[in-house]
Amino acid sequence: MFTGPSGCGKTTLVRRAMARLPELRFSVSYTTRPRRGTEVDGEDYHFVALDDFESRLARGEFLEHALVHGNRYGTHRGSVEALVQAGSVVLLDIDVQGAQQVRASDADAVFVFLLPPSMDELEARLRGRATDTADVIEGRLAVARSEIAEAPMFDYRIVNDDLERAEEEFLAVIHEERQRRTTPR
Ligand code: 5GP
Repeated sequence: MFTGPSGCGKTTLVRRAMARLPELRFSVSYTTRPRRGTEVDGEDYHFVALDDFESRLARGEFLEHALVHGNRYGTHRGSVEALVQAGSVVLLDIDVQGAQQVRASDADAVFVFLLPPSMDELEARLRGRATDTADVIEGRLAVARSEIAEAPMFDYRIVNDDLERAEEEFLAVIHEERQRRTTPR
């Protein structure tokens, strides 16, 4: 389970880690958010209409779900279970609300929070992304502040001040947690 405010480099880190560790698989979430420029439906997200999302929610298809920046997001329970059964390590890139729901369930999950080096740096990254309006960026910064306040609740916190170091730290966490699960006590 991987979380952290948007703009702090989660997506980049996830991609890099997956390139290094083939058994790491990304859980593709469902969202009602419109697709951004280079995103691919079915790879980055399953982009769905609100009524489709709501009927899936009503059928209990989501392991967790949340309203983030005005859009709905959900993790597909069946897809995650299938990947776990196939022996993969499943990576969920979800927000703090979703992480709390997974924690409340009995899922065997590890909670990692990616922190930006500073709020100034986060703001610069969000503005540099240039896909969102000023209002959206302000909203993301406000949410980021409240999310960062939750960071102490996570099992691991990684500061993304240097991408390569953060990636090594992230892979080390996965390695350690896998060892813990396969080594008899
Ligand atoms: P974005 O729209 O920028 O891709 O993602 C916005 C936020 O939604 C990010 O913090 C991301 O982690 C979170 N998010 C993406 N998918 C899910 C999901 O399935 N569940 C929850 N709870 N959050 C998600």
